[in-house]
Amino acid sequence: MIEDQMRTRLAENWKSVVDDVQAATTAAKRPSDSVQIIGVSKYVDAETTLALVEAGCHQLGENRPQVLWKKAAEVEFPDQVQWHLIGHLQRNKLRRSMPFRPWIHSVDSERLLHAIVEEASVLKQPTEVLLEVNISGEPDKTGLMPEAIEPILERHLAEPGNDVVKVRGLMAMAGWGTDSESARRQFAETRQLRDELQLHTGVALPELSMGMSGDFAVAIAEGATMVRIGSRLFEGVLNA
Ligand SMILES: *Cc1c(COP(=O)(O)O)cnc(C)c1O
Repeated sequence: MIEDQMRTRLAENWKSVVDDVQAATTAAKRPSDSVQIIGVSKYVDAETTLALVEAGCHQLGENRPQVLWKKAAEVEFPDQVQWHLIGHLQRNKLRRSMPFRPWIHSVDSERLLHAIVEEASVLKQPTEVLLEVNISGEPDKTGLMPEAIEPILERHLAEPGNDVVKVRGLMAMAGWGTDSESARRQFAETRQLRDELQLHTGVALPELSMGMSGDFAVAIAEGATMVRIGSRLFEGVLNA
């Protein structure tokens, strides 16, 4: 596809996603700035990712850290870009990822949380993370079992040096092939879990990262503050 057409299409897609997120936010009677859109750029190369930024998307999500490193080496992203790591993160990929100051949504083990605390402490780099909850209960899915989260959070909060890493909330994905009603139930359970954790630990957990291209409207209805949207943004741009 020629470059100009690709840019036009990306800009249209971005606007349409912004409009739909806005409509879902209004329908949920929530403040218009209460939901952030994270553009999941894992489907496209560095140049197309940069074109998405130029279309207005400043929050970028990648599920593989190596891809983030590679893209950042290939093109120069503007300073206002905030990266988000949203896929399973191996501890040995952490060191090279920290310079990008990512939000890490996919903290799916206590060992990974410890490793992040260690790196962040050495670098004296405040780091924001979300705990990923396996809300669908499917054993092949990543994420912490809901009942495992409170003790992990309590142990994290009890260590004074750990406050360099702020747990800001929860991340969840609806199970494979769930219809929108079961997705809604899973998002509601995630929010309830978050509410209980706040009550029991006394710590604010304002962020709920949930909802993707197919289910962001129900996620917003159930309280999502970050929606991770990929394929909707690249319709007509991919495979063209
Ligand atoms: C790919 C991906 C998304 C985006 O999914 P789409 O359905 O393409 O919008 C969101 N979250 C995670 C963790 C992903 O890996």
